[in-house]
Amino acid sequence: MVVNDGTFAYPHPAEIFFANAPKERLEQVLGEHNLDLRQWEHYVSPYPSLVIYTGQHRVLVDTGADGMAPTTGNLIENLQAGGIRPEDIDVVIVTHGHPDHIGGNIDSEGKPAFKNARYVMWKDEWDFWMSKPDLSQMQVDEQIKQLLVTFARNNLPPIEGQVDLVEQESEIVPGINAVSAPGHTPGHMAVAISSEGENLLCFSDAAIHPIHLEQPDWYSVFDLAPEQALASKRRLMERAVIEGALVFAFHFSFPGLGHIVQRGEEWQWRPLS
Ligand SMILES: [Zn+2]
Repeated sequence: MVVNDGTFAYPHPAEIFFANAPKERLEQVLGEHNLDLRQWEHYVSPYPSLVIYTGQHRVLVDTGADGMAPTTGNLIENLQAGGIRPEDIDVVIVTHGHPDHIGGNIDSEGKPAFKNARYVMWKDEWDFWMSKPDLSQMQVDEQIKQLLVTFARNNLPPIEGQVDLVEQESEIVPGINAVSAPGHTPGHMAVAISSEGENLLCFSDAAIHPIHLEQPDWYSVFDLAPEQALASKRRLMERAVIEGALVFAFHFSFPGLGHIVQRGEEWQWRPLS
């Protein structure tokens, strides 16, 4: 089940999503998507979490962006509307430490919001945010860097007693595997889910807009190590194509579910109708 935490309108999406795109080519590609470089003012992203009931475990992937904007912070309410209480969740997979993925880690008192859960995160990611994170390579203004650091500082330490750090690709619970996908952040994690011969690949922020599939060399200002992020993206796309996997793409139009089709050196997004 895909449960939304809310939405956020990203200003100047062309500049922030496609940081290295040559302008002329960008204009052309946006045109193919009925977007105008100068008039595309906002991209409204959903902030969805994935809920997986394995029969044995109730697993949540990412916790939304509570506290980031007036339009976020509805995850718990929406889970409850779907019949799921926070205490029912026994595993929370945190794909990376950005505000829109860790916002709901804690409740209004600063305690873990999922008190019966083991939180799972890649060790490099945890270590990065828990030390003094170096964001100097990021092409974003200081205010955004401050937001990232503040969220990590507030929303990670409270889960320390419940966190399980993974250092290599491994099974989290039967049928759900941690997949290394660094670059967007140092320990950015994808999640591979399999059940009765079917696969679902949650690639989190390896691509944040469908154009990132068509233009495999384009990256966003949020990718801390762009070349590494592009390599991770390619690996995930190839895997999704080979497996014929259903893909869960966090920042694409809600619910972010679809398939990836290969076209020569590029990929294309086919959302579920
Ligand atoms: Zn994100």
